[in-house]
Formats: sequence, structure tokens, C-alpha cells
Amino acid sequence: MARRPSTPTTIMPKANLRPAAELYDNDIDIMLRELVLLTSNSQQTIHWLATYGLLQNSWACEQCPKALAMWLQRKDGAQFVDGYAWACPTCRTQKSIT
Ligand SMILES: [Zn+2]
Repeated sequence: MARRPSTPTTIMPKANLRPAAELYDNDIDIMLRELVLLTSNSQQTIHWLATYGLLQNSWACEQCPKALAMWLQRKDGAQFVDGYAWACPTCRTQKSIT
């Protein structure tokens, strides 16, 4: 089992990602019931969206010349309504995950 770094650079581990097309293969009634449970809070909703590629799972800093992978960090404040942000470890640029 791969260990996650202490400061993650992805919302979900790459092994957990699923193609969005899988969503179309499911029975819609079952899927909607599961979706209510899977999206019961903002963290679970973010994880579900990232799993199916409906939310970007990682982000590279657009300010740094080498496009470094940004860190996923918990954030408070009105500009981070979902409670998370991408943060560059080099230039400290912050970006909403949504
Ligand atoms: Zn940067």
C-alpha cells in the first residue's frame, strides 16, 4: 500500500479515480440514493467529485516556471467556502479548489 505524503498534492489517491462514464452505467434510482449518502458534507462531496473527474484532483502552480504540484490544504475564510485550497509550496499562491 502506497503511503500518502503528509501534505497531499491530490484530493483523492490516483488509484481511487474512476471514469465519469461509470456514472451512466448505474441505475439512476440507486445512484441518487447513494449520492445523498456520499455527498452528506462538503468533504465527502469534494471526494466524490474528484473521484469521477468532476473536480480537478490536482493542480500545478501557474506562477512558478516549473509548474509545481500545489498542496491541498484546509482553509477557513469567506474566499474558501468549501474549506480547502491549493497552495504552492514555493511562491505561496493560493487557489480555490472549485
Ligand atoms: Zn508557485
